[in-house]
Amino acid sequence: MDEKGQIFVITAPSGTGKTTIIDSIRKSMRGVGYSISHTTRMPREGEVNGYHYYFVDRAGFQEMIEAHEFIEWAVVYDQLYGTSISSINRELSSGKDVLMDLDIQGAEAIKRRFPESLSIFILPPSMEILKERLKGRSTDEKRDIDLRMRKAVEEIQRCRDYDFIVINDDLNQAAREIEAIITAQRAHRKRRFPVVQEIFHL
Ligand code: ADP
Ligand code: 5GP
Repeated sequence: MDEKGQIFVITAPSGTGKTTIIDSIRKSMRGVGYSISHTTRMPREGEVNGYHYYFVDRAGFQEMIEAHEFIEWAVVYDQLYGTSISSINRELSSGKDVLMDLDIQGAEAIKRRFPESLSIFILPPSMEILKERLKGRSTDEKRDIDLRMRKAVEEIQRCRDYDFIVINDDLNQAAREIEAIITAQRAHRKRRFPVVQEIFHL
């Protein structure tokens, strides 16, 4: 069936497990693409250039801003992050559903540009567990962890603006819940009806 892809914007406070969940979905679910952002931050252990991010220097990022190559970009924890027009178009034109990992500013920008996009906010089970996960990741300095915890308090307030809220307690369950959201949307009348209409000449 030739269906048009749906954009799913995923936001979570840093350390919640968003990258881990998205990696799991990208591996296990068919027909799911991912909008690879550009960033000036250094890769974490296990992160792959061209899969998790395009890691670029500030000058390169600046050039892309000046060339209007970004659909949106933002400063997050003193680093630059942005979605290039070509990255999202590549995924959308393949007809896949597209996952986007964005902060709140990015999620707002995409909702304005693509009003039909759906947003998912992932929460940790508690603030204590969030802190443990940030510490466990061990790539972040203590100062960074405190900063991320303070920002998390503000970010969590905004979960009410999102279409779906998922709690990442058990990793597997959280990933499967997001897959269920994606699967359910594939059966939505708005997407299925045009296809069915053709088959049954409705
Ligand atoms: P984010 O992308 O949201 O910043 P990560 O995916 O890097 O977060 O996860 C932060 C840390 O928490 C990682 O060490 C990851 O292995 C761990 N983690 C993620 N989800 C869970 C979970 N459900 N239970 C326990 N640890 C988790
Ligand atoms: P991290 O450094 O932990 O991978 O990401 C830090 C924050 O930047 C996360 O909230 C993540 O969602 C956000 N982010 C990643 N890519 C983009 C992007 O292209 N645009 C925006 N606005 N935020 C992004």
